[in-house]
Amino acid sequence: MRPPLLIANWKMNMFREEAKAYCQELHSALVQSPSLAKRVAWILIPPLTALDILKPFQKGLYSLGAQNCHWEKGGAYTGEISPFMLADVGCRYVIAGHSERRMHFGESDEVVGRKVATIVEAGLVPILCIGEQWAERERGETLQKIERQLLEGLRGVKKGGEMVVAYEPVWAIGSGKTPSAEEIADIHRAIRQILCAKFSPAWGNQASVVYGGSVHSQNAAQFASRPEVNGFLVGGASLKVKEFLAIAGAFRWRVPAKS
Ligand code: PEP
Repeated sequence: MRPPLLIANWKMNMFREEAKAYCQELHSALVQSPSLAKRVAWILIPPLTALDILKPFQKGLYSLGAQNCHWEKGGAYTGEISPFMLADVGCRYVIAGHSERRMHFGESDEVVGRKVATIVEAGLVPILCIGEQWAERERGETLQKIERQLLEGLRGVKKGGEMVVAYEPVWAIGSGKTPSAEEIADIHRAIRQILCAKFSPAWGNQASVVYGGSVHSQNAAQFASRPEVNGFLVGGASLKVKEFLAIAGAFRWRVPAKS
């Protein structure tokens, strides 16, 4: 069984010295506890300025990712970075369609779809973020919204490689509010059904569907107890090593008991 994914999205936080101290602490905690190291697949997504700080501490303990990319391979796009360049610096994952990018930078479903296609073309794994606004939830439009974001976001993906979908209700991000574990499980099941029905059952069944939105050490266990939850995308609570380690502890029940 594949381990759950535990993804740290540092957003626009962490100067290089802070990143170094973080990695030293995380590295020694994981080396001291091999069972904790194996409990989840650790994925760190720092700002690009800290990527080279994280690399020497990697040592097979975690993968690296980027928070954003451009949809072209290269060219006259001042200030942008292509997924091919991210592959070149050792990233394995790239977030596409985070709600903060949709909200603050006007990224449409079409743009997100183009980014996802280029991420896959570069041989990297997209983490496609989808989720409803509070008003959409109130109007009962959650499923329509996630179906549209999935179909548009995956429009250009032809191959059936590794895929991560992050269900992140926009109203839950950084707010301290979350859906119930049951609601999350229902939406995750719906996401998998859409992936299987609209793309392919084999691909849909092997995709990871993770939850994001105000996950922390005190609420992680209730969400992790649902088999539909294949991991977490964590923002604020990933910035403190102890808190991030405690979130991994929530997946303890998934580790087969030793005889
Ligand atoms: C996120 O940025 O994707 C996120 C889930 O943030 P937070 O955990 O802080 O709500």
